[in-house]
Amino acid sequence: MKTLIICFVFALPLLAHAATETQTFPTSAGPVKITPLYHASTLIEAGGKTIYLDPAKPAKLSGLPKADLILITDIHGDHMDPDSMKEISKPGTEILAPPAVVQTVTTAKPIPNGETKTWQAWTIEAIPAYNIKRGPEPGKLYHDKGRGNGYVLTYGGKRFYFSGDTEGVPEMRALKNIDVAFVCMNLPYTMPPDEAADAVKAFHPKIVIPYHYRGSDLKVFQKALESTGIEVRILNWYPEQ
Ligand code: ZN
Repeated sequence: MKTLIICFVFALPLLAHAATETQTFPTSAGPVKITPLYHASTLIEAGGKTIYLDPAKPAKLSGLPKADLILITDIHGDHMDPDSMKEISKPGTEILAPPAVVQTVTTAKPIPNGETKTWQAWTIEAIPAYNIKRGPEPGKLYHDKGRGNGYVLTYGGKRFYFSGDTEGVPEMRALKNIDVAFVCMNLPYTMPPDEAADAVKAFHPKIVIPYHYRGSDLKVFQKALESTGIEVRILNWYPEQ
């Protein structure tokens, strides 16, 4: 008996990988399951279809279902990784990406800022993602306006927002009726947690899940959103690979 219990205890960390972090959201068209893979890499499953957002190293993709759709937000390696895209592709996998990404990933279809597309049962809206003030040197920005996309994905009446790499830009602050928001925060590239929280207050999603948060103090983010009625859900986006 003792041995059994010990085995069980030791097996737990293995089982506790990505699957336990999966969030299931009910919609009128059935559940949407969202699993954090690594940093910005996300697995989205609904209605028998599989979508990946920004699949990129070092996310562990082996053994995961192949993609029906891959969504890319920007050109940097933590978002656009041709090796990872290849690993999860099958015949018929579609790719939607900003035009700047299509220059490299030529099999992708372009979706520029502000455009809305329908894919299967989903509506996909490209929201501008960019820096207002942060860049590698004066006069330059890490993410230029017009290049990168965030996405609002609607399925069965529920609206999911993925910010992409951005500061709290007016287009984010003006979002309406977001059920679940995945919001980036990390310095120096995007924004600190207090700025992210301020932007989140402006568009007031029902649930906010920090992602792409390496090096950020999430307690600052949580504290800033206390008593706002917005549920903050902290997930582990940096599992050991
Ligand atoms: Zn990034």
